[in-house]
Amino acid sequence: MELDNIAVRCPDCGLKFMTRQVREFVDTGLRNSELRQHIGEVTPCYEPYAICTCPSCGRADWSSAFDAVFEECALFQARTTPHLQYRAAALRAAQKERNYYDSGIFYLHAAWCADDGGAVLQSKEYRRLAIEVFQRSLSDVSCPLDSRIDVEYLIGELLRRIGQFEACRSHFASIIGHLPPNYAVMARKLMRLADLQNSDLVAFDTAA
Ligand SMILES: [Zn+2]
Repeated sequence: MELDNIAVRCPDCGLKFMTRQVREFVDTGLRNSELRQHIGEVTPCYEPYAICTCPSCGRADWSSAFDAVFEECALFQARTTPHLQYRAAALRAAQKERNYYDSGIFYLHAAWCADDGGAVLQSKEYRRLAIEVFQRSLSDVSCPLDSRIDVEYLIGELLRRIGQFEACRSHFASIIGHLPPNYAVMARKLMRLADLQNSDLVAFDTAA
């Protein structure tokens, strides 16, 4: 993966600093059951480079939230472990922005980065927190309309992934009637896995 050093400005404190960003995102359209991009056994792992933390005020956010500036800077972005940066961004989204949808997406990315780093306990906790804020995002107005299906689906899948098989099944049973056909196929597959008490990640494969 090719990375570029890009200078950015923090929208909160105005500090300019260097970041490392992925030169080009290639989306194959293939997803795993948590909707993370994957290709067969390979996960591209862009996520650690999509998060950025200001080395002065500590704002953690998508790299794209920091505007590029065209100059060289001496300071570099904070080198905090990616899952902890996503956790900080998730807390900020919930507490400061009151955006529980954004918070859930950040917790989900935190879980993936924790998986990549072998941080098993943290990844389970991030999934639990993602479920909590995603549920809130459906009852307030923070979940965008075109993301509601993804969020409803993800709540069920994350329940299975953390071993709450009964809750996974009853969640999917309550929403499967209004899911689009491809999500409904996946929901039925995940309910069968929950019956077997299987919490493994699988492909998002909508062949019945
Ligand atoms: Zn800052």
